[in-house]
Amino acid sequence: MGKTSVYETVMMQFDKAADLMGLDKEIRKILSTTTNEIVVNFPVVMDSGCLKIFTGYRVQHCNVLGPYKGGLRFHPAVNIDEVRALAAWMTWKTAIAGIPYGGAKGGIQMAPWEYSPGELERITRRFTFALGGNIGPEYDIPAPDVNTNPQIMAWIMDTYLQMMSPQERNRSVHVVTGKPVESGGSLGRTKATGQGLVYVLEAWAKDHDFNLDGATYIVQGFGNVGSWAAKLLKPLGAVMVGVEDHSGAFVNPEGIDPDALAEHVAAEGRIQGFDGGEWVDHETFFSTKADLFVPAALENQITSETAPLINVKVVVEGANGPTDIDGDRILKEKGILVLPDVLMNAGGVVVSYFEWLQNKRSEFWDLDEVDTKLHKQILGAYRRVRDAVREHDTDWRTAAYIVALGRLEKVYKERGIFP
Ligand code: NAD
Repeated sequence: MGKTSVYETVMMQFDKAADLMGLDKEIRKILSTTTNEIVVNFPVVMDSGCLKIFTGYRVQHCNVLGPYKGGLRFHPAVNIDEVRALAAWMTWKTAIAGIPYGGAKGGIQMAPWEYSPGELERITRRFTFALGGNIGPEYDIPAPDVNTNPQIMAWIMDTYLQMMSPQERNRSVHVVTGKPVESGGSLGRTKATGQGLVYVLEAWAKDHDFNLDGATYIVQGFGNVGSWAAKLLKPLGAVMVGVEDHSGAFVNPEGIDPDALAEHVAAEGRIQGFDGGEWVDHETFFSTKADLFVPAALENQITSETAPLINVKVVVEGANGPTDIDGDRILKEKGILVLPDVLMNAGGVVVSYFEWLQNKRSEFWDLDEVDTKLHKQILGAYRRVRDAVREHDTDWRTAAYIVALGRLEKVYKERGIFP
């Protein structure tokens, strides 16, 4: 962990943009706080027959633009500060993406790898039950995040539907997104975050005469976001020369095949054991020379300790909050451009929105339709942020915040404050 908490990081980013754009001081008060913070402690029967108490969170940051929306994370480091930060980032992200959602986030503080599939299912179902009416298809819609996946979304949906009358059930399957396709999920949702990142990167590269064909990159985190970003960068000719996950890191200047590595990770759950390069320590991985660095693991990875090591031209944030305030400052001093999380990883929530629409309309879109619509939506977001960079002569993160805060400010002013 860095010196500043993750929520303090969000607020410092927020203040910088709010000052630069002259955000209305009353609206500023609203957006500086969360709306609801739900903490639930709940018991689950373990395989041994013993009970264990778990703590789960759901923070709802803002819903002025639409229902609360955001992922659920299962990780030992989940805590209220982290969830607040992630919820605020969702508010900015949905506003930048131009979709009718607010921001929320949640999770359970636990190490999911310590539990059997049966225990994980019972933990997930009991958490859903404990949240009860705090989530809902037109109110607050969870989705996958770190260590959660389509199977977990299917359990959440099923548990939620069991709590409703039979007549209501088929009308409520959009209570979560990121479901398996057979259970009401959307084609293209699994790859959506990586796909969105690659669409925006392509657009940025075109605008800035940056050739992705032959460009080298390193990626931290080879889960959903990292592996899909890598797999989709391959056909564009970009070459992965280093990768790190929770089990270690390796580099290979000749290139690492993302498809082969993804197959290995699908079987083993980690990059460890893959025969594809030279294994290195954390510092050496961060020092690897490349054109791009895609952090796609957790927050607070690029800090005062690691930023001085980084040897790339552009940091492309796949994870939420990978760069803390010191990290941002040091990258700027080194002349390294940062393309920020709230724009680069918005593809996931955009396709979640498409899944939600398909469920509401009882439709099923083919992959071409999903990808075409994602491309259009995310490119609109990219252009709004790019134009704000030019208009305000600022960095991409601050510009992205200005786009989000401008939209939220407009809606609050139109609607007024009740009563
Ligand atoms: P995931 O659980 O699929 O993958 C996480 C990856 O991070 C794994 O490869 C894991 O080994 C690695 N990791 C964990 N701890 C690490 C450490 N200390 N050092 C190096 N690597 C480590 O999660 P994901 O869904 O790919 O999410 C990754 C990031 O992207 C998170 O910040 C998440 O909030 C963000 N994000 C995810 C989505 C989505 O649709 N899944 C959407 C937007 C943003």
